[in-house]
Amino acid sequence: MINIVIFGPPGSGKGTQSKKIIEKYGYTHISTGELLRQEIASGSELGHQVEAIISKGELVSDELIIDILSNELDRLGNVPGIIFDGFPRTLNQASELKNMLSDRGTAISALLFLDVPHEVLIERLLKRKSIDGRADDTMEVIENRLRVYQQQTAPVVEFYRKQGKLRTIDGTGSVDEIFNRIDKVLQELQ
Ligand code: UDP
Ligand code: MG
Repeated sequence: MINIVIFGPPGSGKGTQSKKIIEKYGYTHISTGELLRQEIASGSELGHQVEAIISKGELVSDELIIDILSNELDRLGNVPGIIFDGFPRTLNQASELKNMLSDRGTAISALLFLDVPHEVLIERLLKRKSIDGRADDTMEVIENRLRVYQQQTAPVVEFYRKQGKLRTIDGTGSVDEIFNRIDKVLQELQ
């Protein structure tokens, strides 16, 4: 089983590239951000709590996200491959993921780090706001999400670098150019 983490700051193209990977490789996509947005859409009490956090650009607790993820892994069972999009977002989540996968007899194969300069991220996120209208794509919330990323999420890269699993991808250029770079790495993993 191939388990890929697609990683990078907000606006780095994780969701877009995940779609391309799925088309070609048939892996299963797990986006914790999407799972949280579904919870909000369901109108549950938990969804209301989650909405308050996301609308500020903060992270939901490790406990909640690990709970959601472990349910999702159980629901999926055995699949050829998984792309983790938007998770792990903290060092604690990274080590919990390691345990969760090892309990299931598997492990992360590689972390694909989409490297994109700050100005390009802002530009893409504001453009996305005008297309998708995601509530957390306002300038103020974007700035906080980028700050939260730098403080809490960026350290996750080191966790995987130490294990020899970090693969840095130039995340600038066209969607297809970036996908070709990713594809080269994925072909090596098959
Ligand atoms: N979020 C979170 N934990 C996660 C995934 C998402 O707390 O594991 C929250 C967080 O507030 C984040 C928002 O959901 O800013 C949107 O996440 P998503 O991954 O969709 O954003 P992206 O990085 O793709 O812009
Ligand atoms: Mg996303």
